[in-house]
Amino acid sequence: MSQLDLFELNEDQRAIQEMAQDFSRDKIAPFALEWDEKEHFPVDVMREAAALGMGGIYVRDDVGGTGLGRLDAALIFEALASGCPAVSAFISIHNMASWMIDRFGTEAQRQKWLPSMMTMDLIASYCLTEPSAGSDAAALKTKAVREGDDFVLNGTKQFISGAGTSDLYLVMARTGGDGAGGVSCFLVPKDAPGVSFGANEKKMGWKAQPTRTVILEDARIPAENMIGEEGQGFKIAMMGLDGGRLNIGACSLGGAQAALDKAVTYMGERKAFGKNLAQFQALQFKVADMLTELEAARTLLYKAACKLDAKTHDATRWCAMAKRFATDTGFSVANEALQIHGGYGYLADYGVEKIVRDLRVHQILEGTNEIMRLIISRDLLKGGQA
Ligand SMILES: Cc1cc2nc3c(=O)[nH]c(=O)nc-3n(C[C@H](O)[C@H](O)[C@H](O)COP(=O)(O)OP(=O)(O)OC[C@H]3O[C@@H](n4cnc5c(N)ncnc54)[C@H](O)[C@@H]3O)c2cc1C
Repeated sequence: MSQLDLFELNEDQRAIQEMAQDFSRDKIAPFALEWDEKEHFPVDVMREAAALGMGGIYVRDDVGGTGLGRLDAALIFEALASGCPAVSAFISIHNMASWMIDRFGTEAQRQKWLPSMMTMDLIASYCLTEPSAGSDAAALKTKAVREGDDFVLNGTKQFISGAGTSDLYLVMARTGGDGAGGVSCFLVPKDAPGVSFGANEKKMGWKAQPTRTVILEDARIPAENMIGEEGQGFKIAMMGLDGGRLNIGACSLGGAQAALDKAVTYMGERKAFGKNLAQFQALQFKVADMLTELEAARTLLYKAACKLDAKTHDATRWCAMAKRFATDTGFSVANEALQIHGGYGYLADYGVEKIVRDLRVHQILEGTNEIMRLIISRDLLKGGQA
């Protein structure tokens, strides 16, 4: 094996990538602008993706999961995001929730919920954030109190992707004292008594998926719906996010690559001062930098994915580094692609402004990029801090 093979995809990975690229090109890209404009959440198309194995990419296969790894998942989300980052990102959230049940659920929970989640007949959302607990998620206040064979939940979850449509909600709630150790994880079905939803938020991007508050008012669920042990919820939520961050980074790569491709095509067509834009060296250098930075982000992200698969001790830090770098790079590449399109880049029909709007939120969610720096520096300086 040559050293170069370390950086090349193998035959299986190329086949997975091609399958997702074909799906994205045929089933997502042609409709992405319309979904964005109409704020349409394409559940039927996501189910088609699930039928190809994209509903539980790294869930074990005895419950219908695809049993692949994190690098395979990154390839898939990158490819899907080249058609629409918002749709790809929601499929990622569903995958994250599914993995949490696969990894921490009992055998009975796995068998009960996962087969229908793999086909996306049951769609899942992830509920950590609260109105007064975002970055400081361990300060969450939603309470879960045991009453006989049930838990009764009270609280509000803010900014929940898929809320109102999703069938299942993985809710982090407090069963014990303050801090991370007092949090447990629950599976709350949409139709449980006491569950309701806020209005669909009006937002800058990610319009092809709804964002709502999830309101829990004496929401009653069977005690058997606790995922993992009591007090383990925060750890489960954070472990889910390691993979979620890779996936979001991959969504940024896919969206940004699509914007760069559009810019390169446009430079060959658009004329100014009697030349194609492609003949101006300032713009040649700009696309050279865009490609270079995108490839650097991709290499970092793929390496982080391999670390998470190998469960290395520093995988969390690598996932944070990859998320920070891929989402910052993705946004800046997409924004430069818009600039290359001039005024037309600002028009919806060209499809670039949508990518810019969609990628902006990747710098905020699944842990802001400031929180990524906190995770990285804490690990880097551990032992050296007072
Ligand atoms: C469209 C959308 C979809 C989302 N989907 C989900 C979802 O499905 N499930 C879910 O649970 N959450 C979801 N979120 C929530 C998202 O994860 C939070 O918005 C994010 O974690 C930041 O929390 P916050 O908005 O409360 O900001 P805050 O925590 O209030 O932060 C405000 C600013 O302060 C900075 N900051 C905070 N603490 C520090 C610090 N220690 N050092 C330096 N800077 C700091 C932050 O980086 C940020 O810039 C979603 C958000 C959006 C916008």
